[in-house]
Amino acid sequence: MISRQKSEELFMKAKSLFPGGVNSPVRAFKSVDGVPLFIKKGDGCRIWDEDNNEFVDFCCSWGPLILGHNHPAVRSSIESALKNGTSFGAPTKLENELGELIIRNNPYVDKIRFVSSGTEAVMSGIRLARGYTGRNKIIKFDGCYHGHADSLLVKAGSGLATFGTSSSAGVPEAFSNETIVLPLNDEEAVQEAIRQHGDDIACIIIEPIPANNGLLIQKKSYLEFLRKVCTENGILLFFDEVISGFRVAFAGAAELYNIKPDIVTYGKIVGGGLPVGAYGASDEIMNQISPLGDVYQAGTLSGNPVAMSAGIAQLKECLKVGFYEDQEKRTKEFVEKINNHASNKGYEFEMFSTGSIFWLAFSTVDAIRSSAEIRAESMDDFKKLYSILLDKGIYLGPSGYEVGFVSTAHTEKVLDNVSALFCEALDELFHSK
Ligand SMILES: *Cc1c(COP(=O)(O)O)cnc(C)c1O
Repeated sequence: MISRQKSEELFMKAKSLFPGGVNSPVRAFKSVDGVPLFIKKGDGCRIWDEDNNEFVDFCCSWGPLILGHNHPAVRSSIESALKNGTSFGAPTKLENELGELIIRNNPYVDKIRFVSSGTEAVMSGIRLARGYTGRNKIIKFDGCYHGHADSLLVKAGSGLATFGTSSSAGVPEAFSNETIVLPLNDEEAVQEAIRQHGDDIACIIIEPIPANNGLLIQKKSYLEFLRKVCTENGILLFFDEVISGFRVAFAGAAELYNIKPDIVTYGKIVGGGLPVGAYGASDEIMNQISPLGDVYQAGTLSGNPVAMSAGIAQLKECLKVGFYEDQEKRTKEFVEKINNHASNKGYEFEMFSTGSIFWLAFSTVDAIRSSAEIRAESMDDFKKLYSILLDKGIYLGPSGYEVGFVSTAHTEKVLDNVSALFCEALDELFHSK
């Protein structure tokens, strides 16, 4: 067992300062045993906690660090921006540079606006969708996460195509009444909701690669279906690419599937490990935003120069020839090694992956496309596996519903070693059953 003495002391202190000892809930390690590890340092694909335990990190700050920790190009770009100060509340050249990098290499957006988090990007994008269409309701899907704005903290109500109910205290029913929550991968549910409320639906928002509640890879034909019904009914198709943007391809899942969304949001990778979000659309739609249009949205630290400089350096690396092919190839080999071992041994276990995103499922079905298909009991197995993996120096996000990320710093050699350790961990888990 790894020593957690320092982390335990720090967590005790943190609990007197922050609700549950954390500044974002999943960090509290509630779904796995033990206290959260307090991380003091990251370099490449590795992190070290305050007790000096070393781990290969597959959480990668929940996705932003596609180049791993402390990447030299990102660090030096941040350092050179820092020399000139941290914030001006006035336009800087760096915003142009990052904006142009994105727009030039992305056929789906004419203009973007920078904000400071994924939540803010989605919240603003929803306001824009409503302002542009003059409609109030939105459709979202069970199993997709879009940050913690009020109208998105909504879960399915009872029955098909009914209004959602709030999934958090403090969200008025009047808000959740404007959000329709549907199961993923169910065309009929979408048709029915449009039959009932079509004239008042501003947008259909989806993670085109749902990766916040397991990895629920959708069929391309389903995403094409959403594109088609949106176009036919004057509804905007909203791709929340906060995870998938710059991850599965430079222009995200839209590029991977070759489907044009009407509004798209980015976060995580776009800021190179600093807080940046963005939303984008066509000129016509983006011109509704203030100061040009009457949809208001602003931010004191939006387009922050230090954060822009981190994003610029990171996205330049992502634009290098073969970047995404290489990421996918290494991830695929890693996942295949583990999957082959599991299937040879007859374990009820399988890793799903797309690009450099993977997810551990305790199942042997061909595909899992909706949250209802995830077995809640399998989370006990995840919890046991999690602690075995930690002891072997492998760090994942501390919940079985979270995905893992491979960065460029996870070389073939590292992944080879980790896959062997992973197979051992599976043996330990399944032999103890
Ligand atoms: C992480 C995430 C968000 C929220 O972004 P924050 O920066 O945590 O506010 C929104 N949508 C998706 C798809 C995400 O993965």
